[in-house]
Amino acid sequence: MLAIRLLQEQAFEVDALNIRTTFDCCKTPAAQAAADLGVRLTVLSVADDYVDLIRRPSYGYGKGLNPCLDCRIYMCKMAGRLMEEVGACAVITGEILGQRPMSQKRRDLFLIAEQSKLEGRLLRPLSAKLLPPTIPERQRLIDREKLGKFHGRGRGALIALAHKLGIREIPQPSVGCALTEVTFAPRVRDLLEFEPQASRWDFELLNVGRHMRLDGQTKFVVGRNAGENATLQHFFKRQDASPCAVMHPESFTGPDVLIVGRVDPQTIAFAGGLMFRYTRDLARIAAEVRLTHAGGGRLIRVRPDAAAAAVPAL
Ligand code: SF4
Repeated sequence: MLAIRLLQEQAFEVDALNIRTTFDCCKTPAAQAAADLGVRLTVLSVADDYVDLIRRPSYGYGKGLNPCLDCRIYMCKMAGRLMEEVGACAVITGEILGQRPMSQKRRDLFLIAEQSKLEGRLLRPLSAKLLPPTIPERQRLIDREKLGKFHGRGRGALIALAHKLGIREIPQPSVGCALTEVTFAPRVRDLLEFEPQASRWDFELLNVGRHMRLDGQTKFVVGRNAGENATLQHFFKRQDASPCAVMHPESFTGPDVLIVGRVDPQTIAFAGGLMFRYTRDLARIAAEVRLTHAGGGRLIRVRPDAAAAAVPAL
């Protein structure tokens, strides 16, 4: 928001771009911010090849499984394409020199500009005075003197600038990227280890439910509430779904379970055991469940299962 405001102060028209990855953490309230700033917002999703950079990042991972440099390069390439489409003179970002350890050191900012083919056109207005001038600055289209020289992680001076520029609703710091979270990274690590050919569907599924792995061929996803149960049904029906089956409780209140991979009597019994594990309907010794698989649906009976009761969630 501050980067946009700094360019608006110089009477530039700015188009905002919100890029969504395969993870829910990217669903930020960008529309409100764009409305507050009075800019047009374009929301784009990454393409299927985004998961390749999670699988094999050229510049490695951060503390979690966050391939930040590759991710920034990918996003800047998208922004560069939009810049050409709308005939803009530069791409601007809110990056601040030294703010993030993996992607905002001086050499990282240069690398991102070079690899995204935006050298001279990638402007970081908040740190511009600490970086070499971009082409629009050299051409005096943009007044470099009115840009910032922020450095490091502190928020105090940024908040002061926000007040000065009339931004009254200051958003909380981002909840962070799922790939950096210690609770989420194990799911990604598991997927990369056991399903090296995992598709976008598999990566998006990581956002939903509890995940448990039985073996190299089979994983289970258990809904944690009615919304997630419905989402699992939706994942099952998607055209791009990996091989899977879904189980829904018919005679009791409990979670839906998605079986991803091998669907046979053993994995069906295991999934039934997981439904018992996560229901409050404990008095039952067996229950009716609808199993839906590629060939259609049928009612089956499931029972508690000792192995399913013990398997840890990822
Ligand atoms: S924190 Fe996540 S979204 Fe941000 S650059 Fe790193 S990997 Fe990409």
